[in-house]
Amino acid sequence: MRADLHLHTTASDGKLEPHEIVSLAIKVGLDVISITDHDSIDGVIPALETARTFNSLRIIPGVEISTDVPNGEIHILGYFIDYTNDDLIQALREFREAREGRALKMIAKLRNLGKEIKWGRVRELARGGSIGRPHIAQALLEAGHIKTLSEAFEKYIGRQGPAYVERKKLLPQEAVRLIAAARGLPVLAHPTFTGDLNLDEVIIELKNAGLVGIEVYYDKYTAVEISRLEKVAERYRLISTGGSDYHAFNDGLETMIGEALTPSYSIEQLFLMADNEVL
Ligand code: AMP
Ligand code: ZN
Ligand code: FE
Ligand code: FE
Repeated sequence: MRADLHLHTTASDGKLEPHEIVSLAIKVGLDVISITDHDSIDGVIPALETARTFNSLRIIPGVEISTDVPNGEIHILGYFIDYTNDDLIQALREFREAREGRALKMIAKLRNLGKEIKWGRVRELARGGSIGRPHIAQALLEAGHIKTLSEAFEKYIGRQGPAYVERKKLLPQEAVRLIAAARGLPVLAHPTFTGDLNLDEVIIELKNAGLVGIEVYYDKYTAVEISRLEKVAERYRLISTGGSDYHAFNDGLETMIGEALTPSYSIEQLFLMADNEVL
């Protein structure tokens, strides 16, 4: 079973529409995918509708919630979330509003640095989805202030950059509880980005809040990192998941859809835990 459980669409900072991601997933031979947009579940229903017409692809309704911690950020994935849950919908709407405020502040900082970009253009690039730094990076590129998207992060909007602005603080354990309350399965995303924090301490705290999995097979993780994370998953009895975090940036650098996968035994565990029939 080929399962990529970390994908972005135009509902956040991905470049492909949900229906395009579904078609691409089928084209590259995936059996299961999850749509995991930043602070949005707007891509889930369109993806489910497209997949229904194909019949060969299972879609796990998902989300990726951003949280800030000292000198780093922790992202929490939620699988099998109830995408009709009002509390979840409302909370995600608030996070997206906070993202708008934050983008405006970053644009103001960029202007002070002589790197003017238009708010209207950033909004256009976000196409109604949750606004993220990649949209600002794209606008900087179009305005000729940078030559590559990664330059935006290196020079301006990376965590240490002069135009970086923090988000409204949400604690990782709050994101875990929010997902669990919407009958979702909370999973710690790309665990090597936890900033100053100690991974074991983070996991112990999050397990108490309801964490069930950890993303072990990710993007460009090396064999050494993967084997370390496999041991962590085993030690804390967490389901080891995997996904590409594909955004269709088409920068020639990103991991492509289907290039990082969740093992079949983990898929079975997830479906069992969600009380869903396995394929
Ligand atoms: P935001 O949600 O606004 O904090 O933006 C986070 C997104 O920006 C991530 O999902 C990545 O797609 C992208 N990103 C973060 N850091 C970098 C980086 N150094 N280079 C390129 N993209 C990045
Ligand atoms: Zn993203
Ligand atoms: Fe992430
Ligand atoms: Fe992601």
